Formats: sequence, structure tokens, C-alpha cells
Amino acid sequence: MLLINKLFHSKVSFRNGTKIKYIVIHYTANTTSKAGTAYNTACYFRDSSEGSADYTVDDTTVYLCNKDINKYYSWAVGGKKYTSMTTSEGGKFYGKCTNKNSISIEICSNKKDKSNLKGSAKDWYFTENALSLAAELTKELMKSFNIPIENVIMHHHVTGKVCPNPFCVTQDHLNEWKKFKKRLINEVEKPKKEENEMIDTTLIKVNGKDIKINRILKDGRNFIELRGLENAGFNVDYDAKSKLVSLNSSIKELPLIVDGKKTSVEAVNIEGHNFCPIRSISSAVGNFDVDFVDNTVNIKTK
Ligand SMILES: [Zn+2]
Repeated sequence: MLLINKLFHSKVSFRNGTKIKYIVIHYTANTTSKAGTAYNTACYFRDSSEGSADYTVDDTTVYLCNKDINKYYSWAVGGKKYTSMTTSEGGKFYGKCTNKNSISIEICSNKKDKSNLKGSAKDWYFTENALSLAAELTKELMKSFNIPIENVIMHHHVTGKVCPNPFCVTQDHLNEWKKFKKRLINEVEKPKKEENEMIDTTLIKVNGKDIKINRILKDGRNFIELRGLENAGFNVDYDAKSKLVSLNSSIKELPLIVDGKKTSVEAVNIEGHNFCPIRSISSAVGNFDVDFVDNTVNIKTK
């Protein structure tokens, strides 16, 4: 468990029961994130700022600044959408993520050239210590509020503001953002094999006849085992030299030979078997129609 200090501000409003759906990451535009800066930022929210946030993080310490996150929201992501965006991600969540349905984390930042503090400068950065602490906090919040990884976003995603600067000025910055999000995925969300990609057996109808076939559900789509189609009377061969056999199950193009002609279908390899979306086979092979009736795959050869 992360040790969390408390210093509350009063710049909050009632959530009125609105569910917390997003975690929003910000930077403080501090030029150092050494111990004490999270505290100073919390004091700033309490004493002088017009805006606020729920947490502040520096190299060593986390501060909770909202006296009751379930009840109140801080003023962190409001305002109009910017008219010009520094990256293609800017403003993507405008109108979706609001102060009312989000939690905001301010990460204390650093700057190489402290004589120029422009918000668009490219030398703002986060230390490894601050990032790792912020990631730990984010993961705990994802767990407590059941927030999926795609709902961990930047302030930049909401209004288009360049915040947090180290993640959203250029494409390189966006790559840093992706790296930060990877820290959250690795430990929080592992692929769930139980729900996805489990091989089971189903019946498909081929010219009115029931045929047993292995299938998997992948990302909401039905994939059937290619070999299984042989039982249905199809003479389908696949290229043994294809590099499809691999340990991962990402979708690839599988070379197929249909009546001596080379073509390809989408396929995944699970436990050594090739699975293809039935529609993909139909369009590659071209000599049968596929229909889904009452949750059953119906195949009619032409
Ligand atoms: Zn911000």
C-alpha cells in the first residue's frame, strides 16, 4: 500500500452521485520535483490557486488534497476546448471526461532550462521517481474505482491543453505517455484467457447438416478452426511453410491455397491450431455463403 499524506483544499463541488470513470494526469509546471514539491502544490491549491486537483505527487511523496473523493470533485479539467492541438490525441475526450466524473493527479515536473518557462517548451520532464510513484497511485485508484486502462487519460485529451507537457507536445512525447500507460497495464490488466480465446466446440450448419467444429471467441468475433472445415467436406489446405505458428495470438494473415490459387485469410494461432473468422474464409474461398441465424453459423455452398 502506498503511503498517502493529506492536505485538503476547499476548491471542490458535489459529485451528486456521478460515477468516477476517468483518471486524469497533469503536470504542475514546477521546475523541480524534489521532496516537498507535492506538499507545496497541495498548499497552493489550498491557499491561492483557482483550480485544484485530487492528488499531488513528487519524487518521494503523495498528497491527497480532496477531503472526500467519492463525494466531491476538484476543479481540474473544465473549460473550453482548445482550437489548435499539439497532438492528434488532443481533445479526444472533450465532453466525455468532466470534473464531475474524474479524479485528477498532478505530477510535479522538472525543467532543464529554468530561464524560459514556456508551456510549449520541449525540455519539461518527469523524473523516474515521480513517474513510478504516480504509476503506483494510478494503479491503486484504477483498482478502487474499477477504472479501465483506456480511461486513464491526460488533461490534453480533455481540452487539448498542453498538460502534462512531458507527454503531449510532440509524437516523441506521446510515446512517453504510452510508456507511462504500459506501467499500468503490466501489473493491473493481464489478458483474460478465461473469457477470450478459450477453445470450445460448436455446431455449424453446412448445407443443412450439423457439423461439429472448434471455435474461439476473440474480441467479440467468432473464429472457427480451419481444419474443422474438412469435416464439412471442404478441401482446404494451408501453407505449412507459413510463419503463422507462433506463441502469441495476434491476428495475422494466413496464406491459403484455394483450388491451387494462393490467397489469404485473417487467422490466429491458439495452442497450435489455426482459427479464422468464418466470414474471412468465405470471402477468400468465394464458393460459399455464410449466414448467421439464431446464433448459428449457416453455410451454403454455391
Ligand atoms: Zn492539467
